[in-house]
Parts: sequence; structure tokens; C-alpha cells
Amino acid sequence: MRVRGRKRKRKLSPLLSGIHKSTKVLPDATVVLNSKGEMEWGNIVARGMLGLERKRDRGRMIDELITNQAFQNYYSAGDFSHPLNITSPVNDDIRLEIRIVPYGKVKYLLQARDITRLRQLETVRRDFVANVSHEMRTPLTVIHGYLETMGESEGEDLAPWQNIITQMRQQTGRLQRIVEDLLLLSRLESPGQEDGLQAPVDVPMLLEFVRDEALSLSKGEHSITTDIDETIKLQGSASELESIFSNLVFNAVRYTPAGGRIRLRWWSSKRGPCFLVKDTGIGIEAEHIPRLAERFYRVDVGRSRKSGGTGLGLAIVKHALTRHGSQLKIESEPGKGSSFRCCFPPSRLSK
Ligand code: ADP
Repeated sequence: MRVRGRKRKRKLSPLLSGIHKSTKVLPDATVVLNSKGEMEWGNIVARGMLGLERKRDRGRMIDELITNQAFQNYYSAGDFSHPLNITSPVNDDIRLEIRIVPYGKVKYLLQARDITRLRQLETVRRDFVANVSHEMRTPLTVIHGYLETMGESEGEDLAPWQNIITQMRQQTGRLQRIVEDLLLLSRLESPGQEDGLQAPVDVPMLLEFVRDEALSLSKGEHSITTDIDETIKLQGSASELESIFSNLVFNAVRYTPAGGRIRLRWWSSKRGPCFLVKDTGIGIEAEHIPRLAERFYRVDVGRSRKSGGTGLGLAIVKHALTRHGSQLKIESEPGKGSSFRCCFPPSRLSK
């Protein structure tokens, strides 16, 4: 038995040291935690990225070792279904994506990946879009302004051109709406723009206003009813909440043929205050629903353009909702209608 044992050991030890060596040089920081959350082992990268020393820190709780506030909230909440992004505790220039995965019976693997470059690329993309939109804004305003003056002119010389001028005005108007929506989106996406999300907002009043606008957009072709709890107000950004509600309600008008019904609801549910807009419009095929909030994703490009859409409305809604701790839930049946719902966390209720 001893001979066999020795043989087995001889066979296994190179395997074990091989595994050890490869985990040591993994490009991601890898840390093994026991069931209590104490560090058992960490590779070399964990030192550079997280400041963890295998020998020194063994047996210490991970939330004492990584003192970043966002990490501590994430760890104590215990929901590891999504990764967490934080700045490295040892180097402010490094951005990390942290994942915690349970394995074996009661162990956890904490992995940290360097996503600095990815973040930089995202910033470059965002800045580029914001800069292009900004640069286009002034020339477009000038062209649109002149076209408007020409359209209103009663002179004989321009009479044969009126049709063309009207079309040009419509197109520059469309471009202006796209530019404004792109600028709004890049503002919503920029990090560190959390100020202004805590003002008291009179949502019932806002919804009355959105309903009036929807009525004028509908030109009396739809029945628009409301069921609004006048007592529920929110903490948030009034302009972003207005964007959310108006985009959803105007879409309901634009994608519901004349004679259809639209219902707005604002009520207090178990999950918190909720908003719902339900229409009896054209509906959406199930395969499109997960992609609707992507920029410029439209089920029917022609229809969206004809009704004045930029293809950015739901992307704006999604971002603004995320900033308010909420998500969009879409249910729809082609030919029957759609409902768009969002619920806000009870902590956002305003007295
Ligand atoms: P758009 O400016 O094209 O309306 P949105 O981002 O607001 O852009 O919406 C994306 C797409 O989602 C629309 O083009 C349309 O196909 C679909 N959609 C949005 N709201 C509705 C609705 N209430 N009923 C049916 N389709 C809708």
C-alpha cells in the first residue's frame, strides 16, 4: 500500500504543481474564499490588482481586505448574478470587473478582470458621438432656420420651390431630433452624472401634461384614459422622468391605428410605485422585444420614420430608468396591442 501510495503521489504531484503554476499566472486575479468568506488562496495577479498577499492575508475576511464601499455593498447583498465594476483598491487608473462564483460544496472563487481598456474604448465612443452631435447642432439650426423663413416667404420666385422646401424642412427637423436625442443619450450614459436625481417630482402632474401632449399628437383619433393615484410622488430627475413617460406614451399613440385605446396607469404596487401604458395598437412580435431598447432598432423603419421617430426613444427610456433603479417590462401581442411597465424602488417615494 505504501509503495502504491508513493507511486500515486509521484504521479499526482506534477499534475498539482502544473495546475498551481497555471492558476498562478492567469491574467485575471483569482482568489479562493471559504464558506465564511475568508481568503484561502490568491494568485500573483491578485496582489497587483487587489493588493492581496497570499501568506499575509490568508484567513482574513474578504470584505475586510477589500475596503471599497461598492464592493462591500455588493458582497453583503450576496447577489452575485451580475458582475461588479470598481476602481482597483491599489491603483486608481485600473478599472476592474469582479465576479464571485460558488464552486465545490461551500467555496467561492473571486475573479477580477482588468477592463480599463474596454472602459477607455467606451469613453472614446461616447465622446465621439457626443462631439459629432454637438458639432452638427449649430449648422443644422442655421439651415433649418433659413428653410423656415423660405417656407413662410410669400414671394413669387420661391413658389415653385415650396414643395421641395417643405421636404427639406422635414428632413432637417428629423436630423435635429436625432441630434438632440443622441446628446441626451450621451448625457445619460456619462458616469458621475448622478446629481439631480433626488429632486421631488410631482409625477401625477407630469402625467397630466404628457396626456395632454399625447391628445394633441393623436388629433382626437384615439381614446386616452388615465388612472392616476394623485398622492404618489417620486424622488428623481423631472426631465428624465418626463422623457420616460412621454416616449412611452407617444409611442403608444404612434403605433396604434386611429380608433384604438390607450390607457395610462400610475399606482402603488407591492414592489413600489409603478407606471403602465397599454395600447390596442399594432403590437410587436416576440423576437423583436429583447432588442427594442437598442439604438436605432426599429421593427418597421418606414413606419417609425413616417411617424417622426428617431429610433432612440426606448434607448433613452432604458438608460433613464436604470438611473432611477428601474427596468422596462414589455408585453405585446401582434395585432392586439402592447403594454410597457416600469416600477420604481419604494426608496424613491417622495413625501
Ligand atoms: P422609434 O423612434 O422608432 O419609435 P423607439 O426606440 O421609441 O424608436 O422604439 C423602437 C421600436 O419599438 C419602434 O420603431 C417600434 O417598432 C417599436 N415600438 C415601440 N413602442 C411600440 C408600441 N407601443 N407598439 C408597437 N411597437 C412599438
